[in-house]
Amino acid sequence: MKIHEYQAKELFSQFDIPILPGRVAFNVEEALSIAGEFGLPVVIKAQVHVGGRGKAGGIKVAKTFQDVEVHSKNILSMEIKGLPVKKVLIAKAVDIREEYYLGLTLDRDARLIVFIFSTAGGIDIEEVAATSPEKITRVNIDPLFGVMDFQLKKLIYDSRVDNDKIKDILKIARKLYECYIAVDASLAEINPLAILTSGEVVALDAKLIIDDNALYRQPKLEQLREIGDDLDELEAEAQKLHLAYVHMPKDKRGSIGVMGNGAGLVMNTMDEVTRAGGMPNNFLDIGGTATPEVVEASLNHILKDEVVQGILINVFGGIVRCDIVAEGLLKAYERLPRKVPIVIRMTGTNEDLARELLEGTPLIYASSTEEGACKIVELVGRQN
Ligand code: GDP
Ligand code: MN
Repeated sequence: MKIHEYQAKELFSQFDIPILPGRVAFNVEEALSIAGEFGLPVVIKAQVHVGGRGKAGGIKVAKTFQDVEVHSKNILSMEIKGLPVKKVLIAKAVDIREEYYLGLTLDRDARLIVFIFSTAGGIDIEEVAATSPEKITRVNIDPLFGVMDFQLKKLIYDSRVDNDKIKDILKIARKLYECYIAVDASLAEINPLAILTSGEVVALDAKLIIDDNALYRQPKLEQLREIGDDLDELEAEAQKLHLAYVHMPKDKRGSIGVMGNGAGLVMNTMDEVTRAGGMPNNFLDIGGTATPEVVEASLNHILKDEVVQGILINVFGGIVRCDIVAEGLLKAYERLPRKVPIVIRMTGTNEDLARELLEGTPLIYASSTEEGACKIVELVGRQN
């Protein structure tokens, strides 16, 4: 889960990472009043879940109140990489002497955490890695031991940082690690970590991605998730129900609901639906141990989109027994708030029993994914 810069900065400051005071504005009036409070000049920063806002014109320094008005109006009506800007962060503007990069993320190859530091801050680290990799230093951290001083020194000493600033940066690095662990982040990034003309070292930007799998133990952070930012309403609701559900993007969304056990199987089922001339409405993975409760909750959830006119279910009976799934489905079908044609492709343990159970019921059996896809498209009508 991505969170906004202003939210990440709030968390950073709870860990004593120095940031500059700022507040969020949703309109020009709020922007002006916050600027009045902080005093000019201020920097106006688009709050959207993408990087490179600076380059896209989403970050502007305002020296006068007229600047504040013009820039905040402009930025609030922008789209950056397809995302509409709904709010801006107004923060005290500062004079920057140097910009560094400091980040923490998971190193999947090493199976460890990795600290990354670069003297080339303010630009995307990917770009630095491509053009001047010698400016990047890395050190792996074993989460069981935690971060040790010599590791941080190794990270910073090889670069050309002023001696008197090294201490400040090391302190921030230690805090950033604390924060990364405490909030279950998969990425924590300060770019730029700026040395101001006043000599202060501050996090001018803040990026945090929280591991979705840890959200159950980060209830405060889960509340930061915003509907409309990267989840639509049904997806947000699915998350609360602990369903792995993705609503297809509006322009590619059809009327065939799809669910199955296993992400690969569901994706394959969606492909088959498309190949058969239909358009899937969603992706829903009910997981390996599909209980009747989960199956019923999933069907109910898919049907919440009124556009759905039929559902294709694809179950591989490895861990689950097909007859148990079939029984659960029959019971669930009776209770459904809205009846639509349902085709079920089931294979695996007790598949024959399942087929018998479904015979003569409104639930239609299919023996292969392809056959299931063709049947549901026949019932709902071709869409592509
Ligand atoms: P990003 O482009 O989305 O990564 O946004 P950043 O927050 O990193 O800002 C991009 C650049 O804007 C920074 O590298 C700075 O050079 C500049 N910037 C951000 N805040 C300030 C500020 O308070 N004062 C000045 N002078 N420049 C700033
Ligand atoms: Mn940045």
